[in-house]
Amino acid sequence: MRKYLLPENGNFYKANLHLHSVISDGVLTPEQWKENYMARGYSILAYTDHDTFVTHNDLSDEHFLALNGYELGLATADKTKTCHLCAIRLTDNDKDMPACLAEGAWVLEKQNKPVPKALIGYYNGQNLSYTGECISRIIKDNVEAGFFVTYNHPDWSGESYPDYSGYNGMHAMEIVNYSCQVEGHDEYNSMAYNDMLLAGKRIYCIATDDAHGEWGAYGGFTMIKAPSLKYEDVTTALLNGNFYASEGPLIEEFYYEDGSFYIRTSPVKKIQALFLGARLGSKAKSVIAAEGEYVTEMRVKAKEAVAVRFTAVDENGKRANTNAVFTDTL
Ligand SMILES: [Zn+2]
Ligand SMILES: [Zn+2]
Repeated sequence: MRKYLLPENGNFYKANLHLHSVISDGVLTPEQWKENYMARGYSILAYTDHDTFVTHNDLSDEHFLALNGYELGLATADKTKTCHLCAIRLTDNDKDMPACLAEGAWVLEKQNKPVPKALIGYYNGQNLSYTGECISRIIKDNVEAGFFVTYNHPDWSGESYPDYSGYNGMHAMEIVNYSCQVEGHDEYNSMAYNDMLLAGKRIYCIATDDAHGEWGAYGGFTMIKAPSLKYEDVTTALLNGNFYASEGPLIEEFYYEDGSFYIRTSPVKKIQALFLGARLGSKAKSVIAAEGEYVTEMRVKAKEAVAVRFTAVDENGKRANTNAVFTDTL
């Protein structure tokens, strides 16, 4: 029996799930971002301005979907570390907002705009602290209020395993944050994603731009496979992990059948399988193209492991990553 690990049916939509506009500290308007991304083949943008939830439903049309969200951060007192999370609304309404924006007012006040009551921080006046417990509570509040929550750019944030291993309940983490890479950070978080999975966190991985301006745009994207561009079709696909994270290569097909995994990609130089938690000597497998040639598929027998994930690497070193598959779900 074939089990599709990316859905058999539906369409792939190219998405950037982390973006800043002039509403916070980005330099382009939401409309300009829509135009520029659409010109490069994107269909979905999640607007995640800092600490401010604003809906952009008026931008959505037959060929474009605006997802509504925001990014929040909680830093240490000495500002050497922070935790940033994006929360993307699962429906296109702004009813029953969690009001958990830590500094929700600052952006709107800066622009001399009125601050809607729903945006005034629920946590204002509460004892927020940079601890795994507090951050996990913020994640839980957002999940319960109907958001898809992602953990962002650990390297930019100055975070390491003892920090992020304490965060629980998010849906996904950034395996790529392109703006942070452009700034010089080591924001290809393959090992951190492995660490999270081996710590038992069943999370997906996304690649994002976190664009504030053109300099940090069009480098990391998430391909979402959904029946349509309807808001809830796309957010359901997010919740179900029907997507992959890429800097360039495409993943066309991914399934499990009769004890083997199969993946088909655009032409790449290497495809690798990581078997997390497998015995020594069985933790990885790869197919590598000869010089001047390419590979486009890999079939590999399942091994005894906690989770399995695949990476395709093209000739420019750009990578596409599947979500991890926990073997007890097969
Ligand atoms: Zn951030
Ligand atoms: Zn950001």
